[in-house]
This record gives sequence, structure tokens and C-alpha cells, in this order.
Amino acid sequence: MPATPATDFAGAPAVVLRGGTVLTMDDRRTVLTGADVLVVGQRIEAVGPALEVPEGTVEVDATGGIVMPGMVDTHRHMWQTAVRGYGADWTLTQYFVWNYLEHGRKFRPQDIYAGNLLSGLEALEAGVTTSVDWSHNLHTVEHADAAVDALEEVPGRFVFAYGNIQAGPWEWSATPEFRDFVERRMKRTDMLGFQMAFDVTGDPEFPEKAAFEVARDLGVPVTTHAGVWGATNDNGIRLMHEHGFMTPETVYVHAATLSDDSYQRIAATGGHASVAAESEASCGQGYPSSWSLRRHGIPISLSMDTSVWMSADIFSAMRSTLSADRTREHHEAHAGNETVTHLAVRAADVVEWATRGGARALGLDDVTGSIEVGKKADVVLVKNDDSPVMFPVLNPYGHVVMQAQRGDVHTVLVDGKVVKHAHKLVAADLVRARRVVEDTVSYLQDTLGAEEWAAGMSPDIPESKVLDNPYTYTEYADASTHTR
Ligand SMILES: [Zn+2]
Repeated sequence: MPATPATDFAGAPAVVLRGGTVLTMDDRRTVLTGADVLVVGQRIEAVGPALEVPEGTVEVDATGGIVMPGMVDTHRHMWQTAVRGYGADWTLTQYFVWNYLEHGRKFRPQDIYAGNLLSGLEALEAGVTTSVDWSHNLHTVEHADAAVDALEEVPGRFVFAYGNIQAGPWEWSATPEFRDFVERRMKRTDMLGFQMAFDVTGDPEFPEKAAFEVARDLGVPVTTHAGVWGATNDNGIRLMHEHGFMTPETVYVHAATLSDDSYQRIAATGGHASVAAESEASCGQGYPSSWSLRRHGIPISLSMDTSVWMSADIFSAMRSTLSADRTREHHEAHAGNETVTHLAVRAADVVEWATRGGARALGLDDVTGSIEVGKKADVVLVKNDDSPVMFPVLNPYGHVVMQAQRGDVHTVLVDGKVVKHAHKLVAADLVRARRVVEDTVSYLQDTLGAEEWAAGMSPDIPESKVLDNPYTYTEYADASTHTR
């Protein structure tokens, strides 16, 4: 039975992506060319050439394109998307001051909702099918309800990481409202998972112990910003380790400014890292850590951190991670007067970190992260017939990491459902998303006032001086005239 070309996916019993180059990201990293991916209901039913499909299957032409697993972002402060790009010139210190000390508390529940809604849609549009919402401005439970309302409205796979920078984790995690929220909203399905999100300051009293106990009691993984220059350090890791709170479910975000001892404790307890290379480069958490993590055998996942600075797409994350890792490799070699002749990290490794690595970090490896029969169908087609960059595709991993970008994401499926097709989100109400985000922006502008708003976006530039130069342009120009 020939499949119907894609026009309307509603009610279709199955979807087939025909004739693409398929990066399965299975254990053997099998790559198939001219292959089909058949999705029936929520799951991947078959992968291979010229598949027979059930009657009524809707067909997506994947020829010339790359079919890959949906990407996974293990650390994204989705609420901040409402102020997209505002902090492009910030350091981490300026971010802390603006959000934590000065203005974070001004965010109302509807502002958290607005950011999450936009961020969720943005993730799907870029082929990010699973996102951890590292939601650390939940200063009331109403804020948490608003955050989850948005996540439930967007047809993506999410992990809600509950946090509150406005109070100690030992405080907010001890409240009856928090327990009640967990009971009411956190059913922990594979579409909406749950983590607790807080940082460990290294205070020898280890006040965070109580929050870890709550997490253990609830059976909830902890995600924590670890190894952040000037904020969290080896003492936090040591305290977690000595008290038995480092588990295979723990996710260490950044894990940048850490000693070998801390990396060894992470490796020995089976935890996962979330590398946000673009963020680390701009903000200053430390050198992007994949080079160090690899030396210690710590599994890697990727994240983009926050749209307040960066583009929330994993293409950017893959490219900046690969670039940072290779920069470090060359730099370390040059320091020893050596030359790197063969690169250790391949484009395929970074694609794995962006897909399977994220799924493993979140305990979702049996659900998502690869294109294998029986897994839930989180699938991305990278294809753009109007782009001169999408041919020839000679090295598909390299093409995904170094050539493609979010605009090349043609079709996206989450849990078997087509959420983007022909470069457009399906059934997404962008008009409404724009309205709620604009409401948040004007509320913040009114509350801060024009001057404060502008100043927050344009931090002072430190003094700098161009070095003295013994050569002058005019002398060189004169000399060149004489020799002619
Ligand atoms: Zn973060």
C-alpha cells in the first residue's frame, strides 16, 4: 500500500520517513543510507530500506536529509527565555546580581509560564525533543505550577528540575507546599520527569544535606551546578561524596573548575556531566569540561543553559563543545612543544553526547536517544532543499555538527507525534506565546524603569589599552614606496 504524502498528520495511524541517511546512534553507531524509519503510535516500529507500511501511513520524504534521534538538553533555565538575549554581554557575576539579588523575585508565576512556553516551543523547533527545565526561580509553589502548566501544554518531553535561588534548598524542600506540589503534579512519566535542582556551596556545615535527604526520600535525582568558578568547588563535591549523596542519577552541570580528585569521585559514583560549552566560554564557569571529563571516563551530555545569552539549539552546543575540546587538545600539546596529528574527539562523539548521552544522564536510555525498534519515536529530520549548505552530505556526523543549523530542521517527532513539519511547528500557537512573553517584557520594563532596564543590558566595559607597538604604519608605507 503506497503511503500518502504528508499533508495532515492528525489521525494518521503511522508515519514513515522515507529514504534518508539514518544516524541510529545504537550501540554500534549504525548509519544507514537510503533507509526508512517507520513510526507506529508512539514507537519506532521498523528501520531499514523500502519498508512495507500499514494502510493510511503518512509519508515524509527524507531523501537528501539526515534522520537522527531527537536531541536532549540536560540543563536549560527555561523561565529565562522570556528575556531572550538580554544578557548577551553579561558575565556570570552580572547574571547572578541581576537574577538572584536584584530582579529574580520580580518574576510572577505568569512570567515563569511565559518563558517556559516560549522555551518549550523553541526546543521543539530546533529538534530538541527532551529538555530539562532547570527551574530555579520558584519562589512560590504558584510559580512551580505555572512552570509545569507550560511544560504540559507543549508536546515535548521534559524533566522538571525544581529549584529556588531565593531560598536555601534545605528551606524550600522542607515545606509542606513543596511536598504537596510533588504529590499533585509530579507523576514522573516518561513525558514529564522530575529532578531537584540546587547547588552545594561548600559550607563545611553542609546545610544542603537536608535537601539531599528529601531527594533520597522522594527517590528524585539531584542536578547541581558543580565546578563553577567563584560559586561551587571541590568542597561541595567532597561533602556530597562523604555523605553518600553522589549517585549514578546525579547530574553535574558544567563540572568545569574541579580538581582530579573531584572528577575521580564523580567517575567512581557513576554520575553524569552536563557540558554547556557556549555558556562556559562567555560567562566564566571554567574551561568547557569535556576534555577533562573524557580523561576520567565520566559520561557526557550537552546543554545550552539559558537563552538569556545563547541560542537554545543543540547544534550550537555540539559545535562549541567540539571546538572547545579540540582547542584544549591542541593547547595542551603546544604547551609541551608537541603537535596533535590525530584528533581524539570525533563529530560522531558529539552527536552521541547530544542524543544518547543526554538520555543516559536522565535515566531515559530505554525511552529515547537512539533510533531503534521499540523505543519511543523522538526523531529529527535535518533536511533543507532550499539551502546550498545541505549538499553534498559526505560525512553525515560532520554535517550535523559543523554544517547544519536549527533552520535545517525539517521534521520533528516526539513520542510518535509530528510536532514540526516542512520547517514549521505543527499546531503551535505562536501568537499566544508572543502575547504572554510581550506581557512579561513590558511588565519587567515598567517595574525596572527605562534606565535600570537599559543599564542591566549594557554593563560597564572595563578599561583596556592597545599595547605599545615599536612599528608604525606610516614608516612601513614610506619604506614600501621607496622600494618600488
Ligand atoms: Zn545553569
